[in-house]
This record gives sequence, structure tokens and C-alpha cells, in this order.
Amino acid sequence: MASSACGGAGCGPHCSSSAGAGEDASAEERLGRLSVSGAASSIACGKCDGGGAAVAVPGGIGMCGECFRAHLFGKFKLAVTGNAMVRPTDAVLLAFSGGPASRVALQFIHEMQAKAIQSWETSNSQALPVFVVGVAFVDESGALSPKPKHEVERAVEDIRSIVSSLSPGEKAVHIASLGDMFTSGSEDGVGKLREVVAMIGDETGRDDFLQRSRMLLLQKIALENGYTKIMLGSCASGIACHVLSATVKGHGYSLPADVQYVDTRWDVPVVLPLRDVLSQELILLCELDRDQIEDYLLELEDDDVGK
Ligand SMILES: [Zn+2]
Repeated sequence: MASSACGGAGCGPHCSSSAGAGEDASAEERLGRLSVSGAASSIACGKCDGGGAAVAVPGGIGMCGECFRAHLFGKFKLAVTGNAMVRPTDAVLLAFSGGPASRVALQFIHEMQAKAIQSWETSNSQALPVFVVGVAFVDESGALSPKPKHEVERAVEDIRSIVSSLSPGEKAVHIASLGDMFTSGSEDGVGKLREVVAMIGDETGRDDFLQRSRMLLLQKIALENGYTKIMLGSCASGIACHVLSATVKGHGYSLPADVQYVDTRWDVPVVLPLRDVLSQELILLCELDRDQIEDYLLELEDDDVGK
């Protein structure tokens, strides 16, 4: 389950963990440059005159926490509005795993919704409706390594409390298990799923299968509940993993469609507003906002960097 954040379009469940030792080193180097305080603390924020110490150095300009957050929100908002990802009449289903990317996506889309509600309330005509946001959590714990039931239940409880704390704008939470896809009648879906996964010999094949199943399940949730868009937290780093693995597997033909901002090949179009954001940036933002985040969710999603 830890790996489900991207919901299927961006990165494979193991894209970050399967990276070699060499890549780890360079990721750490990157994190160093984007780190909270540390070496960057002697530099002042290059964006505001507040004089706050820089915590982040993306692209060579030191930024304080607030400016860094605004910088990422700006990227997100530009991707959403510039590509018409979310229209006022839309109902958006956000695939949420608890990983850094989906947490940032949830927070940002909530802020956009809150602003839209605010301006709807203050406008005279109230002509334009405000888009709806819902959250879907796909429990994959049964597929590969079984997780204790209470851990999954705790994660679900936490997701509900995180989502319910985001107001205004009520957001429905949909919890589904990958096993549901394999249930017919009273059969044990998770057992069946594990059987199928075990029959697939290679790891990339299993990843593809799980990714596909996850996306089909998200499509099903969206269609049954009237959502018009599915939003994934796939970010630049996760997408880079996907580009590499798709190329290796000879899927170059469908690759451009896999990594576009809006993927309309599905019944319910899939949107990737964090496409241009690095996973390190998302992790740093989560670090800065850590107070609001349940720590154990972070632990649960430790191997979930790219999502
Ligand atoms: Zn600043």
C-alpha cells in the first residue's frame, strides 16, 4: 500500500526503492541542496525582504519556508489552470496514499477549492459553481506483503481525520481494496489477488499489473460516484522512473500519453498537476509542514518517495 500514491499513471511501486545505490547518493546530494536549514541557513531568502533565513535552494535561489511553499503552490496552480485540469463544474477524485506527493496535492487542491468557495460567497451573481473534491485511498496491503489489519485501519482512520480537517468544502472519502477487483460473490478477493500476483514471474510485470489494477479501481470509484477527473500526485522524479522503465520495456509508443498533464485515454480523464515538481521538493515541503502530518503515515510511506 505504501507505494500506491501515484495511483498508477506515474511511477511503479518500487521506483524509488529499486533505484541503485548510485542514485541514492545523488538523491541525497539533491536533498542536501534542498535541505531544511543546514548549509543554506547562512543565506537570506532571495524572494522576500522579510530577511528570513533560506531553508530551500531550488535552482540556486535561497528561499524561506513561506516563499518555498508559495513557489510550489504557484507551480501547482499554474499546472491546474494552465491546462484546464479542473473546471468549475468538475468533481475531482484525488488518489491519496499518504505519501508526500499526494499529501501536497490534497493540501493544494483544497486551498484552491477554499479560495473558489470564498469568491463564490462574495460574488453577487454566484454564476460559476465551485468544483467538488473527493479523496480515494486504495489499500494494496494484501497484494504483496500483508500488513497487519490494525495498521491499515489506523491509516484509514488518519486519512479520514486529515480530510475532515480540511474545510471549507466537504470532501467524501472512498476507501477501496485492490482485492475488491478480484471478488466474485463471497470469494476472498485478497487471496485471489495474491494468487494472481504470485503467478506473475517478474517484478516489472507485477508492478505493471498492480498499477493497472489500481487505475481501474480508481476509474470504477470515479464512475460510480460521479467524478469527472482523477488527480494523481505523480511528480517529476516518479515520472522520470516511469520514463526509464517504459523505455526499457519498449513502451515508447504510449509514453508521451503517460506523462502528459491530462491523460484523456481513460473514461475519466487523469490529471497530473505535480508533473514538474521534484519529489525532493515535496518531501521538504512535508518536512516544513510536519506539524500537520501524522508521523507514522510518513513511516508507512517511507519507500514512497517518488509518488
Ligand atoms: Zn522569503
